[in-house]
Amino acid sequence: MKLKHKIHLSSTLLMFFVLLILAVVIYYSFSNLAYETEVERLEAEVGVMVATFNANSSEETPDNILRAYVPVDGLIKEKNRSSGLLNTIIQDPSVSVEFPNDVADTSGHMAVEGEQFAYVTAPVIWPGGEVVELIVAQSLREVTANLATLRLVLISVTLLSMIPIFLSSALLGRVLTRPIEGLTGTMRRIQRDGSFEKLPVAGESRDELSQMGVTFNEMIGLLEENYRKQEEFVSNASHELKTPLTVISSYADLLQRRGAQDPALQDEALTAIRAETERMRQLIEQLLHIARRSQAQMDWQKTDLEPVLRQVMTAMNASYDREFRLQSEQPLIVETDVQQLKQLLYILLDNARKYSEDSIDLEAGTDGAVYIKIRDYGVGIPKESLPHVFERFYRVDKARSRETGGFGLGLSLAKELADSLHLRLEIDSIEQLGTTVTIVFSENFNVGELQSGQEG
Ligand code: ADP
Repeated sequence: MKLKHKIHLSSTLLMFFVLLILAVVIYYSFSNLAYETEVERLEAEVGVMVATFNANSSEETPDNILRAYVPVDGLIKEKNRSSGLLNTIIQDPSVSVEFPNDVADTSGHMAVEGEQFAYVTAPVIWPGGEVVELIVAQSLREVTANLATLRLVLISVTLLSMIPIFLSSALLGRVLTRPIEGLTGTMRRIQRDGSFEKLPVAGESRDELSQMGVTFNEMIGLLEENYRKQEEFVSNASHELKTPLTVISSYADLLQRRGAQDPALQDEALTAIRAETERMRQLIEQLLHIARRSQAQMDWQKTDLEPVLRQVMTAMNASYDREFRLQSEQPLIVETDVQQLKQLLYILLDNARKYSEDSIDLEAGTDGAVYIKIRDYGVGIPKESLPHVFERFYRVDKARSRETGGFGLGLSLAKELADSLHLRLEIDSIEQLGTTVTIVFSENFNVGELQSGQEG
């Protein structure tokens, strides 16, 4: 069943039950009230009758006195209390039913042969001294008729009000499901055409349905952006692979044609092929690295930074013929994933090495938050390139990068690492003077608390 039909049916049924319960409650409350009022009225009448009967000193027979008090549509039964025998019945001619000689309570109402009666019992002393119980009853046919009218009115009102309820709940179902139908339609079109279509979101409304539309549009925007990035990435990667492949294939052709006769050419071709193969290997390695990053699990640990930095610096000093200097506060406790932090440091230190000739400084300390600065005194980055250096495959100078072996992937990977480590990366650079990359740790991490904890 469609959602709009479900909403239609359930709200109609719900309203029907609510109205039905309301009508039943109204009917029973009113009928109880009406019967009770009649019983109370009869009690009052019987009270007056008994008082008159007891005060009577005339020669009038008791039956005659009582006859004057027989209620309209009612009767009086006189019953000897000690013998239990019925003396007389004084009955209005309109009463056709046989009223019972015994009743359960002293007053109340009961149905006799389908007709409601109010009744009251009262003992009186007969002139002879015997105690006689009077049962005074009155038909409630007028009240019953009024209640039948009330019943009819309540049923009609309930059924009539179901018409607007039926119509409005159909409208409600349609209004609620229209945006969902729109969403489903758009999703189907996206699936069929592979387009990134957005939903039309009406006005300033802040209701849940427009929120759903806005969220859907945001999600589509994000998917579209990711898709474009992916496309760009694949096209850039293919482009990067094209150059070494062209070089390799050209040299292979040359070797095939003239290699046998020319040992110098053979040598040159093999060197070039090896160099380009190595370049491709490096590129593929970096691409795999990027692909694996999305699945990387973080291993957060409270760590003292100083020994980590020292290990990294020792490794860099041993690997390259360059001076790497470290200056660090001690201890510098942070919460991080050490392996991923080391990877980030290697990328930044490698860049510092590639784009400078002098020594490289690494400084770590606390300035509000914990920071690490990597400073080189090399070529620097032009101001206009600074906003782009974190983009994938962006290189300031393609020719220069090709010499140093970069693909423009290092800093984008560094940015991703920094994001997952909750670190901020800042770059300051002056051309021909050098570059400083600063890694800033999140201030949320309370270093002071940890240090005192350690001391304790
Ligand atoms: P690559 O792998 O080519 O070095 P990166 O993404 O690491 O790519 O860097 C992007 C560009 O930023 C590089 O092409 C380089 O020109 C520039 N760059 C990065 N770090 C430095 C630095 N320390 N000094 C000067 N230029 C740098």
